[in-house]
Amino acid sequence: MLNFEFPGGIKIDNPYPIERVEIIQAPLPTSVVLPLQQRIGEEAKPCVKVGDRVLTGQVIAQTEDAFCVPIHASISGTVSAIDKQLIPHKSGLKSTCISIDSDGKDEWISEQGCGQDFLHCDRQTMIDYIQKSGIVGLGGAGFPSHTKLSKAFDCHTLIINGTECEPGIMCDDALMQHHAREVIRGVEILLHITGAQKAIIAIEDDKHEAYQSLLMFNHNARISIQQLPTKYTSGAEKLLIKALLSIEIPSGGFAADSGVVCQNVSSTKAIYDAVIDQRPLVSRIVTVTGNALSPINVEVRLGASFEHIINLTDVNNKAHDYRMGGMMMGVDIDTIHMPICKITNCIFVNNKTQKHIAQECIRCNSCNPVCPIGLLPQQLYWHAKSENVEKCIDYSLMDCIECACCSYVCPSHIDLVSYFSFAKALCKKQTAEQHKIDIARERFEFREYRLERNKQERAEMMAAKKQALKEKMAKDKDKNQEQKDKIAQAMARVKKSKEDNA
Ligand code: SF4
Ligand code: SF4
Repeated sequence: MLNFEFPGGIKIDNPYPIERVEIIQAPLPTSVVLPLQQRIGEEAKPCVKVGDRVLTGQVIAQTEDAFCVPIHASISGTVSAIDKQLIPHKSGLKSTCISIDSDGKDEWISEQGCGQDFLHCDRQTMIDYIQKSGIVGLGGAGFPSHTKLSKAFDCHTLIINGTECEPGIMCDDALMQHHAREVIRGVEILLHITGAQKAIIAIEDDKHEAYQSLLMFNHNARISIQQLPTKYTSGAEKLLIKALLSIEIPSGGFAADSGVVCQNVSSTKAIYDAVIDQRPLVSRIVTVTGNALSPINVEVRLGASFEHIINLTDVNNKAHDYRMGGMMMGVDIDTIHMPICKITNCIFVNNKTQKHIAQECIRCNSCNPVCPIGLLPQQLYWHAKSENVEKCIDYSLMDCIECACCSYVCPSHIDLVSYFSFAKALCKKQTAEQHKIDIARERFEFREYRLERNKQERAEMMAAKKQALKEKMAKDKDKNQEQKDKIAQAMARVKKSKEDNA
């Protein structure tokens, strides 16, 4: 096993482990709600209207933004609404969604991919299939896979991230255990696309079954499976690259610039489906866990409600707190009447508890050593609290990955990470405002310059005109004199001739 050491991070055991990790197939939902806003980029535009019949996998909203992917119907049925609905986002805002009522038939569109013999397909065809199939990072980031792959020039190593990013989430473990063959084939597709010499599948050392499954299906010498000690936040991309390859990605830099491409393991399986069958991403595996139920992993159609899968396990009848995403980086939510989307990897259902009330910072310094990036959360906190953005920047605020390790260990229960995300937003706002001011100043300066230049040009033009007129007048004067002289000479000749004849 690799000697995987990075400063900070925390060892947290899965609080609700399952003895045997199965994948339950959720029944077809009776309706789905599909948001048109993706993680990044512009909102997709519907290409269906209310009342239209749609098939599973059919494109129902398109976008011309190269960063985005189309939206697909996840069930067959009838479009019942295109309106604003609550979506699973930390803003808590509503966004435009397309709702589909199921016809219970699950009729699929017919598409063809490259087939198992994908090597005859060129790189761009595969990337196009990946985009058309709506594949994004399924580890929680939601970054479109085709964008990463399009930039993968001079790639020497492909990293498949199978390190579950947070304690309690088991969906990638379940996927690797039950779809190891597709994962390995997906890695081979990615090797073909990126041209990388080698691929490393990174997996935590407590995922024994998944590790064995991957070993069993891997017969490719270019693919290795690397176990890492289980430690949060080992799944963070930059830390993973550093641990596996000893390559440090600089602040603000990208892995691709260092010849490395990372893909989540679930996205790799989705890429297999997209390239081999051109089957769009219409479902995902979600972990439903917490102390109010028996944890399960469910494969469910996108757009089904949180409630739809929570009801598949035995939930106690107490009052509950809900959280989407992991216990560290997830977001508390008030309702489970929200659609599952591509980045919904986990739902926590816990018995309602009294929230800790934050106390004053006691300067215990517990938060500084756990930061995996090597920041100083305690100092950052003071500057973020006083909204001193400049100081926050000096303390590398923008490198904070919002892992919440510092908040987790804080004995005063200060939600440090919320301060940091607030300070980042403030910084972005100030940068945007400064940018606007800079643009306005540049415009003003250019206008002044333009007016001055016009004035100068006009003066030069007038002077030139005046000079030309002066020269013309002088010329005319000379011409007149010449004329006068000629007339005088002619008159003199006439006079002389008269005198001679007299
Ligand atoms: S949230 Fe930011 S500051 Fe806190 S431990 Fe994580 S990276 Fe460090
Ligand atoms: S852990 Fe909490 S109380 Fe201790 S120094 Fe950090 S912010 Fe202050």
